[in-house]
Amino acid sequence: MTKRGKSTEQIHHDYQPPSGWGAVPVPVYKASTVLFPDTAALHRPRSREAVTYRYGLQCTPGSLTLAARIATLEQATHCVLVPSGLAAITLTSMALLKPGDEVLLPDNVYGQNRYISTGLLSRLGIHHRFYDPLDAVAFEGLLSERTRLVWLEAAGSITMEFPDLIGLLQACKARGITTAMDNTWGAGMAFNAFELAPGLGVDVSMQALTKFASGGADVLMGAVCTRDAALHRRLDEMYEFLGYGVGQNDVEAVLRGLPSLPLRYRAQEAAALDLARWMQQQPSVARVLHPALAGSPGHEYWKAVSQAGSSCLFSAVFQPAYTAGQVDAFVDALRCFGIGYSWAGPMSLAVPYDLTHSRSLPLPWTPQEGGTLVRFAIGLEDVEDLRADLAQALLTLG
Ligand SMILES: *Cc1c(COP(=O)(O)O)cnc(C)c1O
Repeated sequence: MTKRGKSTEQIHHDYQPPSGWGAVPVPVYKASTVLFPDTAALHRPRSREAVTYRYGLQCTPGSLTLAARIATLEQATHCVLVPSGLAAITLTSMALLKPGDEVLLPDNVYGQNRYISTGLLSRLGIHHRFYDPLDAVAFEGLLSERTRLVWLEAAGSITMEFPDLIGLLQACKARGITTAMDNTWGAGMAFNAFELAPGLGVDVSMQALTKFASGGADVLMGAVCTRDAALHRRLDEMYEFLGYGVGQNDVEAVLRGLPSLPLRYRAQEAAALDLARWMQQQPSVARVLHPALAGSPGHEYWKAVSQAGSSCLFSAVFQPAYTAGQVDAFVDALRCFGIGYSWAGPMSLAVPYDLTHSRSLPLPWTPQEGGTLVRFAIGLEDVEDLRADLAQALLTLG
């Protein structure tokens, strides 16, 4: 069959219901014990190639169905499901690094990935360095014999710089260094992480299904995808070492979210871009960070990825004349935006951030301007209600 669109692909994904049962939703398969037909089956060595159900922690028909659909979404061939996006990051780093190795992370990497590297990995004798995602030349200078893994994030967390993906990947590929992307922002919709340019893509793509795939703000889950069978074996082995497993009600919830993921992604993306442009025109706002806006750091690199989407996030840096307290008061005055972490659910969210202690390198977007940053995550409310809400809350800034 010819290649189908993202929505059709999810709605018509292969699934064999029990004989005579003509319903398409995938049931919830709950189990710890999975019975063997006899002792011969119990003693049979486990094959990694064929699916054999041996214990509920490893997989169920439901989790395998979801993993296959996420692999399709990401245009990968293999997928491991884990209990959170954070667990997906830990799994990837633990599976691909050993004592003495070095991992490189973008300076704007998701905060918890930074802490895993400075905390957990350091304790295990695994080194780390942070790089400027906008400077592939400086990045190349950091690569060494012991660099075993490079994390990428597009766009980066909070400050939204879009990395020079092509330049960074070319440098890694030339040296045979494994690359892993935190693809939560792209969600398999913004671009194909495995084919960012002809013959050039990442080796591993992980995403927090907590965000777009679920879409309900009611599930925590992560996925680690690859096209490389050998890498998948290492990830799958670490999955078992760590005792990870996913709740089957959560599997069902994400399966329900997937058919509407493309529609939600496009709607939230359009609303975020509209509101980001509007915020740019507000006198109290010094700068809006959104990769699809000209002048936002990495905009050129975002354009270099053909037909890239732009997700539902943007950050606004307020004029330095406003204190952090005044910006907090603006956030408190919002009525349609909740104050809280995570994003890509139905409700829009706003969070002020102080980046003083979460970056190693200077911020590329603050020449001398300073100013408090608020990260907005746009949900599924009517966009005019969100705009009116922002407008009334901005009045508090006078
Ligand atoms: C939310 C998020 C994660 C972690 O996902 P959880 O399921 O909340 O652990 C990882 N990376 C990025 C970019 C995120 O936004």
